[in-house]
Amino acid sequence: MSHPIVQVEPLTTARALRGPFDYVRPDESVGVGSLLEVPFGRQRLTAVVTGLAEESEHRLVAPLRVLPDALPADLVDLGLWLAREYASTPARALSLMLPPRGAREKVQLWAQRTEDGEMVLQGTDQAPGGSAVRLTAKQVALLQHLPRFAGDDLSALRRLEARGLVAIGPRGRRRAPAHHAVGARRAAPQLNADQQAALDAVLAETRAPRPRQLLLHGVTGSGKTEIYLRAAAETLAQGRGVLILVPEIGLTPQMIDRFVTRFGDTVAVLHSKLGAGERYDEWRRLQSGAAQVCVGPRSAVFAPIAHLGLVVVDEEHDGSYKNEGDPRYDARLVAEKRAAQHGAVLVCGSATPRPESVHALHRIVLPRRVDGAGLPPVEIVDLKAAHGAVHPRTHEALVDARKAIVLLNRRGWSNFLTCRSCGRVWECPQCDVALILHRDQHAVACHHCGHREQIPETCPDCGSVSIARHGSGTERLEHDLAALGKPVLRLDADVKDAGAVLAAFERADRAILVGTQVVAKGHDFPDVDLGVVLDADSTLRFPDFRAEERTFALVTQLAGRAGRGGRGTVIVQTIDPTASAIAYAARHDSDGFLAEELERRELLRYPPFSTLIRVVCASVSGPHPPAAHLAATEIQARLPGSLGPAPLFRLRGKERSQVVVKAGERRSAIDQVDAAVREVSAAKAHKHVSFSVDVDPQ
Ligand code: ADP
Ligand code: ZN
Ligand code: ZN
Repeated sequence: MSHPIVQVEPLTTARALRGPFDYVRPDESVGVGSLLEVPFGRQRLTAVVTGLAEESEHRLVAPLRVLPDALPADLVDLGLWLAREYASTPARALSLMLPPRGAREKVQLWAQRTEDGEMVLQGTDQAPGGSAVRLTAKQVALLQHLPRFAGDDLSALRRLEARGLVAIGPRGRRRAPAHHAVGARRAAPQLNADQQAALDAVLAETRAPRPRQLLLHGVTGSGKTEIYLRAAAETLAQGRGVLILVPEIGLTPQMIDRFVTRFGDTVAVLHSKLGAGERYDEWRRLQSGAAQVCVGPRSAVFAPIAHLGLVVVDEEHDGSYKNEGDPRYDARLVAEKRAAQHGAVLVCGSATPRPESVHALHRIVLPRRVDGAGLPPVEIVDLKAAHGAVHPRTHEALVDARKAIVLLNRRGWSNFLTCRSCGRVWECPQCDVALILHRDQHAVACHHCGHREQIPETCPDCGSVSIARHGSGTERLEHDLAALGKPVLRLDADVKDAGAVLAAFERADRAILVGTQVVAKGHDFPDVDLGVVLDADSTLRFPDFRAEERTFALVTQLAGRAGRGGRGTVIVQTIDPTASAIAYAARHDSDGFLAEELERRELLRYPPFSTLIRVVCASVSGPHPPAAHLAATEIQARLPGSLGPAPLFRLRGKERSQVVVKAGERRSAIDQVDAAVREVSAAKAHKHVSFSVDVDPQ
């Protein structure tokens, strides 16, 4: 056998252990992407084959076994690239791409008519042997309804099998994911002239040998999804696959629904709410080519589609494309890479694209709503003079509105609790943050680590029973707005079935939908006549260079949910009515906003004019200064020009300290950070410190 050696990456989370390691190649069928179980030190680990070799300097052992599913070779390449791009390890990156585990193909008994069964059914009352075939009415009905899975009728079918009329055998059965149907099903509409021009521009790229990457910048309701659907149809006709990335599936059931309605079983969905069996079946359908379109959130960027022709990132400004765990990959960059690997067209769509995308991608514009209605007027209301969370003007509009969406970016009942006698503030014992009251759940909870306690009745410090609740969140707002006499629905991370809430809001004749940012995401309700941003300052005051961008996007996206039928108003409450992000959003001037924002970023050398990399060191609370701070100090010293170390608030019982690099040369900066983290983390002195690297932090 040529190449008698396999190079593998054992899947371990240890940062220090990096392959590839050589093993004996079991047989010719084992190649790049094969999954093996290998002996590794004293452990047995799953390992991915990343290469083949002729010779090795080591004395080799053989893998313990070859596992049944394999990773496509292009995903192995992608994994190795991703590990380097995000200063992680190949093992951690490849772990993201594995076939779903903990499930197998579901096999059930399938019954079909034999030739004899066929003849009997066609009215032949003579079996081949010559004897009369007598069947009960029930048996005739059974025969008529074949082929199908045997299910409860197995014993009756077995009797027909014994008479040679039916054949029964095992067959794989797909566990098809269910999905909510939200939004009226409409037939494919005739494209308007803007859409046709946009589609032509996309299709021109699908025929180009090296397609350009596109940004579909279309106002809310301009019919971007219809472009994705048409481009997908054309790509399928060319015999190539389609990947559609969407923000979070529970919140965007409409996209799945529209793809399934248009393309049927060739659509597979991959998301975290699927059961293990469903996920496995969907993955296999994609890998085998039985399905050629995948719709899913961030992690679906690793869907095993063989010949990709089109990759769509819908709502490309959405923060959920960034992975929170290591590797902290950005699915938008990974999508770009996958599209490039396959020579596929990348289409990023948004009404509020990121300045980065406007800077890097070829822009196609959809300037108008398909329904011909203008964008709704946006009123800015100055909160400084108002008492309470809802300005009188907002209150009046809520009374008049038939269907309203109200956005407040805080979940729970109130922001924090204090003791009126001694001033005690209820804080998380693990994190330096206040606990949030959740009346529904009869608890106060930490939004960072999930710690929860009973709602306090007395102060443990002074015994006082006078406990004040400050500020309000979505839960309290839901309660307060009920006084208006309209049904109030709430949507936030505490709500289990977001799809059901959206469906109920769509059906309702009069209602108020209250929620966090999720209410501004991509939903298409025709008859919302009021949108309210209750606290536009919560995103604007955030100490982050993306604060402007986020605020602009939030207001614009919410405005996009209102007035689709032609009537509608948006109210934005703020204590800073002159803030430019809000003013641009109120004028629906995204070009103006983007131009100013890009200018500001260039001046301050922020992305896309630099690359930011953040290293966070964490250690359990203990000696002072904390171990995390010492490690961060050493990392900072190895990275000339970096900022820090700066302490972060304590999280999950860990002291944290960060170093930030702002680099002109992306590739070399990532490699330098990686090298610094490797050196410092390998030192004995930092044994109890954990390190995380975030390239392009959000
Ligand atoms: P966007 O994603 O740009 O916000 P959608 O794709 O959700 O917009 O389109 C908004 C609505 O308009 C959808 O219900 C869609 O079916 C409908 N639509 C799209 N294109 C057309 C068209 N050319 N004519 C009529 N209706 C259309
Ligand atoms: Zn007290
Ligand atoms: Zn906590």
